[in-house]
Amino acid sequence: MNGAGESSTTARALAAAGDAESARDVGALDRAAQAVERKLAARRVGLVERLIYGPPPAVAELQSGGVMAQAVSGSEEAIVAVALGCLARGEAFTANGRLSTALRKTVAAEKAYGYTVTAEFGGRGASYGQLAAVEEALAANGLGPLAVEISGQLTIGAGSLLAYGDDHQQRTFLPLVAEGRPMAFGLTEVGVGVNAKKVQAYVEEHADGYRLFAEGAANKLWITNAVYGGLVGIVARIGKDSPNIGLFIVDLPAQNVEQGMGHDYEFRCEPSGVAAFLANFNSRLHFRNFPVPKANRIPADGVEVLFYCLRMGRCMLAAMAAGYQRMLARDASHYALQRLGVGGPVIRHEVPRLNLGRILGGALQARALAYLSLQQDADGVDLAGLRDLTKSASAGAGVESMLAAEHVLGGRSFHGGSRVNDARVNLHLFGVVEGEDDLILMGMVRDITQRFVDRYLGALLGVIQSVNVAPDGGKLPEGERILRIGLATLGRHPARSVAAVARLLVQPKFWLLAGWVVRNAAADLLRSPLCLAPAACFARYRTLPKPLRRYARYAERKLRMLRWSYLGISLFFQLELTRAQIPLQRFGKCVEHLVSMLAICHHAAAGDASLQQVAALQAQLLRDKYRAIRIVSGLSSLQRTRRMVASIGASIEAGECSLIEDVDPQDFGHPWSAASQTSAQRRTKL
Ligand SMILES: Cc1cc2nc3c(=O)[nH]c(=O)nc-3n(C[C@H](O)[C@H](O)[C@H](O)COP(=O)(O)OP(=O)(O)OC[C@H]3O[C@@H](n4cnc5c(N)ncnc54)[C@H](O)[C@@H]3O)c2cc1C
Repeated sequence: MNGAGESSTTARALAAAGDAESARDVGALDRAAQAVERKLAARRVGLVERLIYGPPPAVAELQSGGVMAQAVSGSEEAIVAVALGCLARGEAFTANGRLSTALRKTVAAEKAYGYTVTAEFGGRGASYGQLAAVEEALAANGLGPLAVEISGQLTIGAGSLLAYGDDHQQRTFLPLVAEGRPMAFGLTEVGVGVNAKKVQAYVEEHADGYRLFAEGAANKLWITNAVYGGLVGIVARIGKDSPNIGLFIVDLPAQNVEQGMGHDYEFRCEPSGVAAFLANFNSRLHFRNFPVPKANRIPADGVEVLFYCLRMGRCMLAAMAAGYQRMLARDASHYALQRLGVGGPVIRHEVPRLNLGRILGGALQARALAYLSLQQDADGVDLAGLRDLTKSASAGAGVESMLAAEHVLGGRSFHGGSRVNDARVNLHLFGVVEGEDDLILMGMVRDITQRFVDRYLGALLGVIQSVNVAPDGGKLPEGERILRIGLATLGRHPARSVAAVARLLVQPKFWLLAGWVVRNAAADLLRSPLCLAPAACFARYRTLPKPLRRYARYAERKLRMLRWSYLGISLFFQLELTRAQIPLQRFGKCVEHLVSMLAICHHAAAGDASLQQVAALQAQLLRDKYRAIRIVSGLSSLQRTRRMVASIGASIEAGECSLIEDVDPQDFGHPWSAASQTSAQRRTKL
């Protein structure tokens, strides 16, 4: 583990590959992530890493998520019952489809907004596992937007206070949160998205507190739950050009405030105009010289706090995705049972049945991963890897289920006002919020391989780095840099390539790697005859229902084999792996599919026969997906794909792509460049 201020292996590799900008950005984000690791002080290495590199987790650990799901089942009933009562009375949504005040008041009386806040501060003191049960049930019953609101409130909202707030802050704000005062987290800006450390909003320190500036491109954008009179944790620099980023609890005024009307500050809260989370508050926030009391500064780095809270946010997103998919499955199967298609009811035909199975399987996958992650977190296991694939797999399954539901429900899946139609944008959005899926999958690969890279591959990267040093000690120009040593580089830069190989051979770490290869190859060789024995011969798989054993075994075997795949791509791409995103993303998908298979099998072990049928089909579908991905065995076609991708990217950058050159682009919402902002400001007054 790297200490504070120390750059991560990835950042060092990026710098060595000559990508200084990425090295800086990734290094800054990694430092925030490392601070979270230190705070969580996990007692065990992450599950995904152990599944690949060993030692294998015990069966009880794999089944712990299912046990948790059963233990919390039913705890959600009180809140869900009052919310559904509201829905049945037609009071849950306003005429324009927003969550109603009546619904909010009803669930607030049940302490839904303070569900995981301790009783000391007026909350229910429930666990995140119990919250997941609420989230899933609300989304399954047509109240997905309420689930979104409560999740935001309690993960990135109150979660920041619970984990990082001081005594005074907790005593002041948590009772308000528990009463139902909306609480949001504001990091994203008009000009800054995934590159969180680049936020431009800032505070100035004054004798009586801080003044917050978030103007123009630094407006906080798409802030869920941000509404007049609500609370927001605002991420802002401490000083305009300071590298230090803080977090400030801001009590939003009840209306917009213009400077010069008896006020020396400005504040505006306007709808962000996003066409997702339509029933929720989602705002763009503007602050100029806005006063924030000194006591409202949370004593931590704002990006670190977000990363900390996102781990629970991702679990709740998975629980919601499970609920949404159960709703899709219910409505699609209801339709398929009644509707006459060609040659009888739709349900009788194989393809609609496959679609229904897919949706049910997606729901089970999201649920299994959500609870497994939550139990792992509760048990002090490092969630690195699992939290990311939980989110990515659940969001991905949600979108696939949406498509499957459309194919069963036909035109009615687009009926305005139907809950299936309403779910579409939210399910799509799940792939982008709380970390965009591909980006977090690539981050996951880094996390689960970090220890292996540090221990065994660091020397290789260091050697390549050393042959890219110019005689004056600086870096060689980009065209002369060697990113990987192979036959091609041997031909082009023979002297430097031979020097690199010679240096490598004298590195102790190179021989450590050779030892690892021999040890692991021997272990796999010794294990290979066992492949012939049926799964029932192993106590490990006998705990599972018969139809699921082969999938759990397959997933575990393939996960172990992935350590060779990672070594393979590392040796092939070497330093170039810092920019070879396609193999990393594919590797991440393999991990995602296999861990999902395993989680589903173990989750369903304690379930009824119908759940086990769903688990078996989903495991089979995931196996098919896994088998379709080729990494090491398809390196030459992968490289071809990468070259094609590179040339398309270059042609777009050069404005030479004829398919689009005669099409005018449409202006996008919330422009951030100075020129486009002036016209946008005229339109939106922000
Ligand atoms: C409805 C909604 C609600 C939201 N709620 C909140 C909230 O409550 N609080 C909050 O702070 N934020 C919120 N967000 C922001 C959200 O969580 C994302 O962080 C944000 O949308 C990402 O920024 P962007 O869309 O501007 O993407 P950009 O930063 O512009 O990125 C565009 C795309 O490029 C990809 N990309 C960028 N860099 C790389 C790279 N190096 N390699 C590969 N791909 C890359 C990204 O993955 C992304 O897909 C919300 C967003 C929406 C739409």
